[in-house]
Amino acid sequence: MLRITNGRVYDPKNNIHGEVRDVCISGGKVVASIEGGRTIDAAGMIVFPGGVDVHTHVAGAALNFARGLIPEQHRASTPMFRNAVRRAGMGGTTPTTFATGYLYAGMGWTTVNEAAVPVLSAKHTHEELHDTPIVDKTCCILMANNEIVLDLIEAGEYERAKDVVAWMVWAAKAYGVKAVNPGGVAAWKWGKDAKQLSDPVEGYKTITPGKIVANLSRIVDELGLPHPMHLHCNNLGAPGNYTTTLETMKTLESNRAHLAHLQYHAYGGDDWYSIRSEAAKIADYFNAHPNLTTDAGAVLFGNTVTITADGPWQHLLYKLTGHKWANLDVENETGCGIVPYAYKEKNLVNAVQWAVGLELLLLINDPWRVYLTTDHPNGATFWRYPEIIQLLMDSEFRREQIKKLPPKARERILLADLDRVYTLSEIAIITSAGPARSLGLLEKGHLGIGADADVAIFNDNKDIAKMFAYPRYVIKGGEVVIEEGEMRQSVEGHSFAVKPTYNEEIEKFLRPVFQQQYTMSFDNYPVELERVHGMQVRSL
Ligand SMILES: [Zn+2]
Repeated sequence: MLRITNGRVYDPKNNIHGEVRDVCISGGKVVASIEGGRTIDAAGMIVFPGGVDVHTHVAGAALNFARGLIPEQHRASTPMFRNAVRRAGMGGTTPTTFATGYLYAGMGWTTVNEAAVPVLSAKHTHEELHDTPIVDKTCCILMANNEIVLDLIEAGEYERAKDVVAWMVWAAKAYGVKAVNPGGVAAWKWGKDAKQLSDPVEGYKTITPGKIVANLSRIVDELGLPHPMHLHCNNLGAPGNYTTTLETMKTLESNRAHLAHLQYHAYGGDDWYSIRSEAAKIADYFNAHPNLTTDAGAVLFGNTVTITADGPWQHLLYKLTGHKWANLDVENETGCGIVPYAYKEKNLVNAVQWAVGLELLLLINDPWRVYLTTDHPNGATFWRYPEIIQLLMDSEFRREQIKKLPPKARERILLADLDRVYTLSEIAIITSAGPARSLGLLEKGHLGIGADADVAIFNDNKDIAKMFAYPRYVIKGGEVVIEEGEMRQSVEGHSFAVKPTYNEEIEKFLRPVFQQQYTMSFDNYPVELERVHGMQVRSL
C-alpha cells in the first residue's frame, strides 16, 4: 500500500488540474483510501499518470535489423552496466530490449504500443516485448499490404476479409491493426509504389490505396477493436504530400482512424528545394473531424536510424542520402526498410520537418486527439521526448531555436507565428491521458479509482527538459521502480491483446492458402497464448 501526499496532481481525465491531493494505491490499483502502508511526501512535486506511447518501434525483426546496421552508433552510446536491480544493455538510438524498458520507465513512461508487427514474426516480437521490462505493451499488426486480405477485397469478399483480419489479430495476439502505405508496400515487390489514393497497385486489377483505406478502416470499426485503424498514409516524406493526406482523411469518411506520425505527411512544395510546411491545412481539416486522432512524429536534430515497413520510401531515402540501407520483404504480408539518418539543423528539408512536427502539436486545438511521439527511432529516439516538451511549454526557448534555422527554412514555416504554450495539464493529456483513450486502455492514462497504479512524480523545476527527463519517483503497477531518480527495482510489464469475434470456418479457407503461399505451416503460424507471458486478453 502506498500513499502519495502533498503533490500537485495532474489527472485531466478526472478533471484534476494541479490540485494538491492524495493518491492512494493498493493491489496495483488506485483506490479511494488506505490504512497504513508507505507514504511518499510529494510536496513541491507534480504527479502525473504514467506516460503512454501510442506509436513506437521497440521490438521485433525490424529493430534487430536496424541494430545490426548501426554498430557505430551503439559503440558511441553510453552502455548500461548490470547492477543489483537491472541487466546490462546498450543505449543509443535503438536501445536493446532491457535498456528500452529501463529508459522508458526512467522518464516516467509505463505503457508502449509497438506500432508495426508482421504476423509472420509476431512470435519473435512477443519474445522481445517480454524482455522489455517494467512497461506494459500492446502491438499492432501490419494488414494493409497483406495479399490474402487484398485478394479478398479485390474479389468483393468483404465479410471473409473481415474474418481474416480478425483471425490474424488473434493469431498474432495483437491489440490493433496497422496500415502502412496501403498498396504501396505490396507494389514494392515489383519495385513499384502506390503514392496516390487512386493509383493502381501492381499485381491487382481494381485495388487502389483508397479502396484499402476505406475497407480496412471499416473492418476495424465493425470488429469493434478498441484502437482505430492505425494508419501510416501513402506518399510519406514527399514534398507536396499534404494533398494525399487530405485525400486520405476524406476517404476515411466517418470511419475512425489514428494517423501515425503526421509530421511526415504535411509538406507542401514541388520538390526538395521548394518544400514548405502545410501543417495549417492539415490541422484545419483534422480539427473539424473528430473521428481522427494522430501523433506528431516530431523530429529532433541529431543522429538516428529510420525503420519502416514502407520499403519504397526507404529506397528513395537511400538514394537521397547514399547511406547504407537494408530491405526485407515479408512474404505475403509487408516489407521493411532501414536507413541510418542524421537530421541537420542547417539542412532546409530537416529544418522544415522539425518545425512541422511542433506546428501540428500547436495547431491541432484538441490535445486529446494529438499525442507526443517521435515515431521512435525515426524522428528521434524516445528518450529525447523531454526536449519536445520544453519546446511546447517555453515559447522563448522555441523562438531561440527557430533563429538557428537557415533563413530559407524560416520563410517556409509558421512556427515563429505560433504563440501557444502547453500547460502541464495539456502535457499530461498528450503524453498519457489522450493516447490511453485512443488505445482504449481504460485503466491507463489517469489516476481515478480503479486505474492501474502507474504514476510519474516530477520535481517542479524551471528546467522543463530536465524535469521530465529525471522523474523523482516512478511507480508501475503500484511498485516503486524509480526513487530519488535512481532505479530501485525492475518489474515485469504485461501485454494486452484483443480477441475479436470471427467465423471459425475461416480456418478452412486459410489452411490451403498457407500450404500454397507461405514458408511457414498454418499450424505453426499463430502465437500460442502460453508462449506470451503475462498477457491480458480482452474478448470482443
Ligand atoms: Zn512508425
